[in-house]
Amino acid sequence: MADRLGDLIDDYCPRCKLLLNHAIASMIDDQVVKVICKTCYTEHAYRRGEGGKKKTPAGVTLFQQVLANSAPADSPPAEPAKEPEAPAKKKRSAEPARYITRHPAPRKK
Ligand SMILES: [Zn+2]
Repeated sequence: MADRLGDLIDDYCPRCKLLLNHAIASMIDDQVVKVICKTCYTEHAYRRGEGGKKKTPAGVTLFQQVLANSAPADSPPAEPAKEPEAPAKKKRSAEPARYITRHPAPRKK
């Protein structure tokens, strides 16, 4: 930013409730901190031209979290997919089948 103290910048005046010319009244590290409305001469924090809507990061975050929770497809699953706890039990159907099919040899006398 090339703005300096006393420069005119556009900002939202909370008193005039309009986007008006302001004079830079205070700066920190090339960032405008305070401005003075050239219309009503009210000094207020620089709002970067944003008027009406205040900073509500908490509300926005909460709203986004609600959206995220209600839309699982948009977010990765919280837990990694678990592997099967135990290897598949060996099917012993083969052995019983063998017993079943083993007929006692008929004795012939
Ligand atoms: Zn004003």
